[in-house]
Amino acid sequence: MQAEIKAETKKPETKKRFDVIIIGAGPAGYTAAIYASRAKREVLVISGNLPGGQLMLTTEVENYPGFSEGIMGPELMTTMRKQAERIGTTIIDDEVVNVDFRHKPFKILTNSEEYESDAVIIATGASPRKLGIKGEQEFSAKGVSYCATCDGPFFKNQEIIVAGGGDSAMEEAIFLTKFGKNVHVVHRRDKLRASKIMQDRALENSKIKFHWNSAIEEIKGVEKVNQITIRNLSTNNQETMEAGAVFVAIGHEPNTKLFKGQIELDKQGYIVLKNNTHTSVEGVFAAGDVHDHRYRQAITAAGFGCMAAIDVDRHLSETKK
Ligand code: NAP
Repeated sequence: MQAEIKAETKKPETKKRFDVIIIGAGPAGYTAAIYASRAKREVLVISGNLPGGQLMLTTEVENYPGFSEGIMGPELMTTMRKQAERIGTTIIDDEVVNVDFRHKPFKILTNSEEYESDAVIIATGASPRKLGIKGEQEFSAKGVSYCATCDGPFFKNQEIIVAGGGDSAMEEAIFLTKFGKNVHVVHRRDKLRASKIMQDRALENSKIKFHWNSAIEEIKGVEKVNQITIRNLSTNNQETMEAGAVFVAIGHEPNTKLFKGQIELDKQGYIVLKNNTHTSVEGVFAAGDVHDHRYRQAITAAGFGCMAAIDVDRHLSETKK
């Protein structure tokens, strides 16, 4: 079930100056908001164009502690949002188009307003890279997934496809062998990019079949995925394969375009943290997938959100009169 996503631009908030502005409203952003608001800070969350973040695009979440029967991703995020609002966070569904971190107060420009704050938490997350092929969008959350840990258990005893040849693809393929009848790795070259140890593990796993020099051309189905077509890029032959699910693991892109030139980013564009959640600019903090390319889980993002809010509170206590 794909969530209905609404990112309507609400009437501009009348208040323009906050103690802390949180950019992004996934688990990291909402958790930071809950903690900072409980610390009696005036908090504004600017949710961006996908309020709730990546979990709005998933179905059932079985690995977020506290929900013995699991919980739908959109419901989890709506509940976090309500919790933040109940504690006093102001949330606006607007998109940040520019930031100025050169001087305090920091300036955050949205589509409709300019806001100021003494501290900022960046929690804009990362977006999985897309294949950009026919059927990918149509069957997103209906068999097309970008997270094996989240969705693998839904495809027991089915033919599972994994796109990619890096560490993520190998890790996901190995994990998915617990559930699938077979796992088919479709990779565009004849060599894997993954580290030797991950390659060896995947190549030794008898449930994983490799389709080298191949690209998925189309994902097909009726209501949910049931087939893919792949093309061998060396021979140009096309083949149709049964498929219960397609896991796209071709990398992530951190949502940091806005911050280029203002804070330190690594080569891949992830925010570089120093001293826990501090960025290279004093008073600007980051939490979640925007800096974390290792764990990328809702629960770890929430944990980082909590840490950032505690660091912000300390920073404001030390710097604000
Ligand atoms: P990655 O290393 O960038 O690998 C992406 C893979 O997807 C590559 O094989 C690439 O093909 C393929 N790809 C990219 N765009 C594609 C497209 N449009 N169509 C088809 N294939 C495409 O990304 P990652 O695997 O997510 O890893 C990211 C970083 O996290 C890496 O540094 C990795 O080592 C690390 N990581 C580590 C672990 C671990 O150690 N357990 C687990 C996960 C991630 P080419 O090879 O042809 O470029």
